[in-house]
Amino acid sequence: MAALSRTLAPSAVPAILRSLATPVLDFLLPQRCPGCGVPASPERLLCERCLARIPRLATPLCARCLVRGGDGSPCSRHDGYAVHAPWQLDERSREIVHALKYGERPSLARALGGELAGALPTAWRRPDLVLAVPLHAARRRERGYNQAEALSVALAGALRSPHATGLLVRVRATSAQAQLGGEARRRNLAGAFAAPDGAVLKGRRVLLVDDVLTTGATLESALGVVRAAGARAAGVALAWAP
Ligand SMILES: [Zn+2]
Ligand SMILES: [Zn+2]
Repeated sequence: MAALSRTLAPSAVPAILRSLATPVLDFLLPQRCPGCGVPASPERLLCERCLARIPRLATPLCARCLVRGGDGSPCSRHDGYAVHAPWQLDERSREIVHALKYGERPSLARALGGELAGALPTAWRRPDLVLAVPLHAARRRERGYNQAEALSVALAGALRSPHATGLLVRVRATSAQAQLGGEARRRNLAGAFAAPDGAVLKGRRVLLVDDVLTTGATLESALGVVRAAGARAAGVALAWAP
């Protein structure tokens, strides 16, 4: 272990250990549905019955004002800020979101590609690029994992569309947002994202993926940067937390 630590950057070691451990963890995890306790596949986490009971969102939301409705654009005031999400957050979908965020479950993220794709209107099923809402580089190194990125890779796979990293970056580490209201979150996120290679985004149709939409502030800020680079963009989230 000492030799390994010397030859690798310290931050790389946990990521490597984690990648070795993941298949083992998946195997050892209790294979029972946390929603109802019946046996369930570790890739899906929940059983079919509990998955089917998660409330569906059915119409997109506006990341800026949270108006819901319509097929393509939910809000006439904020064109280009539509977010498509398959689920509402409830006690069942919360189990999945939590496992994705803290449990590092790449197989679980992979199984959700079709679910995310199913929330998209036909017009968005052939995007030019799929991107994730990024973590700040320091935070990404520390965690070794970004659940939004895992979901975006799964969505790109389901759509057979290109996935890219590095086209949208978080240039400012933002303080934890869980306790902040909508306005405070928006202030917290001002200038947090940048598109260092904006020319690649220009004229492209870009899907931008996050795990949960709460106030809309994160996707609003990130979509704004992608749009300012000249892309047509839409957001995708796994769940909306009303
Ligand atoms: Zn169940
Ligand atoms: Zn709006």
